[in-house]
Amino acid sequence: MDKYSILRTHFGYDSFRQGQAELIDAVLAGRDVFGVMPTGGGKSLCYQIPALLLPGLSFVVSPLISLMQDQVMALREAGVAAAYINSSLSAEQMRSVLANLRAGRYRLVYVAPERLENEDFLRLCQQTDIRLLAVDEAHCISQWGQDFRPSYLKILDFLRALPRRPVVAAFTATATEEVRRDVIRILELRDPLCVVTGFDRPNLRWIVLRPKQKLPALEGLLREREGQSGIVYCATRKNVEQVCEHLQALGVPATRYHAGLSEAERRCNQEDFVYDRRPVMVATNAFGMGIDKSNVRFVIHYNMPKSLEAYYQEAGRAGRDGEAADCVLLFSAGDVHTARFLIENSGEENEALSEEEREAVRRQERFRLNRMVEYCKTENCLRGCILDYFGQEHPERCGNCSNCLAERKTVDITREAQMILSCVARVRQTLGYNVGAALVSRTLRGSKDKRLEQLGLDELSTYGLLRGESLDTVTVYIEGLERLGYLRTDPVHRGIGLTDKASAVLFRGERVELQLLRDRERERQREKNRGKAPTQSDSAPQPVDRDVFEALRALRREIADREKVPAYVVFSDATLRDMATRLPQTEAAFLQVSGVGEYKLQKYGAAFLAKLRELA
Ligand code: ADP
Ligand code: ZN
Repeated sequence: MDKYSILRTHFGYDSFRQGQAELIDAVLAGRDVFGVMPTGGGKSLCYQIPALLLPGLSFVVSPLISLMQDQVMALREAGVAAAYINSSLSAEQMRSVLANLRAGRYRLVYVAPERLENEDFLRLCQQTDIRLLAVDEAHCISQWGQDFRPSYLKILDFLRALPRRPVVAAFTATATEEVRRDVIRILELRDPLCVVTGFDRPNLRWIVLRPKQKLPALEGLLREREGQSGIVYCATRKNVEQVCEHLQALGVPATRYHAGLSEAERRCNQEDFVYDRRPVMVATNAFGMGIDKSNVRFVIHYNMPKSLEAYYQEAGRAGRDGEAADCVLLFSAGDVHTARFLIENSGEENEALSEEEREAVRRQERFRLNRMVEYCKTENCLRGCILDYFGQEHPERCGNCSNCLAERKTVDITREAQMILSCVARVRQTLGYNVGAALVSRTLRGSKDKRLEQLGLDELSTYGLLRGESLDTVTVYIEGLERLGYLRTDPVHRGIGLTDKASAVLFRGERVELQLLRDRERERQREKNRGKAPTQSDSAPQPVDRDVFEALRALRREIADREKVPAYVVFSDATLRDMATRLPQTEAAFLQVSGVGEYKLQKYGAAFLAKLRELA
């Protein structure tokens, strides 16, 4: 057997993805590796295939129980002798797994990092021929990352206690340079082969919306995606409860997850989601790490996360099967205020840090937040904005994000620009300092706000100059002027001030043109007509023949229920779609379907072929 035949027979794929073959070869040659690939990039195969080719046993350290269960289920489906060891096993199950391990019946065993400290377990391992130790989600070892897990540090003690050091293979989807360096250093990787594949996920469509009211907007999004599975992330537990209740009342098959729920409820809700009994999950960011559900078709953020890293990780749970999926962020200015407030009032709980260190952490967080806000406000390519953050080259436009897809129109806003810029100048003259954009726009719109009166801003000659305009419009203008370089926001106290460029507009009649997204216009219209059916989103997967696809899906459901596994463990959406395209009638043709190997052919070939003949 070589890596190609394993790829075909056990996993049913024809070719390796970027990075996989090199990483596998290095591990087989006895060299440590470090693979940095995006979620869904195919990290698992990079240790699963060596595990099948190497003598002895391979371990995988993985942070979350659900992930292990999922992966082991999928491996067994693919004919691989695998098991997991974690706290979810009963005493009896544990005994039987350990006995099998001792008897050399497994190729691959997933272990929770805590287990590595256990002395009995260590003794057993010292007598076992362990050839490979794969560390999944390796960034958990870095204290810089947001997922630091102290138990990951135990991996080192474990390695040192083994009579013979196995090859160590670390994997992560985290892209930041400092975390990467940490992983190599702390795990003591020896001259590792580092493979960093691109971070782009072309199948994900990035969408930023700014609805006036989020709940109706969310309703619309879910209506467009009826029948699909997805996650709605909210910032707080309270939000989760409210949104979930609201959706359930509308008949959406939603469930919820946050750290305030009992362990039993969390487990039950997570299962409902994974098994598609309730395909919509409303959750805080406590949900998701290690969720390996491959057919998540959308991730909607009800609130803005605090960094692009966090956002990319959470949104990246969509479309792990490589099929089209949407990542939607519902942005509002309020989210920014909340996030800033949290940063400025954070740190107290961490007593180990000095005030200076806390300030350093806050500075980091402010920087990350600003980049997140930039993403929400940019009118350039959203994918490009993310890739910039991760330091990756990219074309100017991707053609698959809400900014690239939006039509633009150029509008002349010279008059409005003059009003806005002179208002900013007047405020500064009057108060001696700059105020935030919100206050400027309230002044321009002639708001009856107490605060304006107190500051005397209602006395300004520019007060009420843009009275007829909506808050949205004025905000878009101000942000546009900032992008064009006429205004600048102070990164610390958030006051907005004129730049040198502004005088050309104020005194020399320079024309100002803004590219407005028509989408924004449409969004406003849509909100007005709330309740009417929204337009069909063209991002919904379009199978070749819906009836065939649905029939195959129903069969998959039946089999999954019978075997008590999640549907995507039987076949992924991508595999069903390929099947619906090829409509195989023979075993040989069935084997050609992506994701079908010898094992699955034997297991499911007859049932699916019968159905396919029926459909032909
Ligand atoms: P990661 O762990 O990097 O997030 P996975 O290992 O879970 O990603 O792989 C994501 C999906 O891609 C899985 O459904 C997997 O079966 C599929 N996959 C992995 N490698 C290949 C390949 N070479 N060809 C086709 N599909 C693949
Ligand atoms: Zn784009």
